[in-house]
Amino acid sequence: MADEGEAAVVNRYLQQTPVDLDGMAAELGLAVERSPLANSIAGKLIRDHAARAGYRIVINSHDAPRRQRFTFAHELAHFMLHRDLVDEVVDNALYRSPNLGDDMERQADRFAAQLLLPAQEVRRAYRDDKVLASLAERFDVSDTALRIRLRELGLAP
Ligand SMILES: [Zn+2]
Repeated sequence: MADEGEAAVVNRYLQQTPVDLDGMAAELGLAVERSPLANSIAGKLIRDHAARAGYRIVINSHDAPRRQRFTFAHELAHFMLHRDLVDEVVDNALYRSPNLGDDMERQADRFAAQLLLPAQEVRRAYRDDKVLASLAERFDVSDTALRIRLRELGLAP
């Protein structure tokens, strides 16, 4: 689990949307790389001893920009939640990895949604604007990710 310092960094970044994942990762001491990976791979969390936190997030640069952001958030979630449980994570295109169970993958998906679509900011934005495309733009997420989050927060059917 994240220590107090990391949680504070994350919470600070959640105050401003779209959430600056690059800034957050840099402050957490992570290296971030966008590289063309096989279509079957969305991203990875791998060891990198040159990075302050000891890890590197790799994002498949073939993917659409908003999908890359979800991958980024999902790998950040693995770093925050699961780095003490497994050495490295390689997520397939469905965000499942061979060495973490489905429960932990769902946990990473939920955490990723919280990073990209912080509850308080989403509730505030939704009061002023109920147009999905413009809300998705505001948070720089896919329409699908937004729709799932609105349902989760009880804001949309
Ligand atoms: Zn994963």
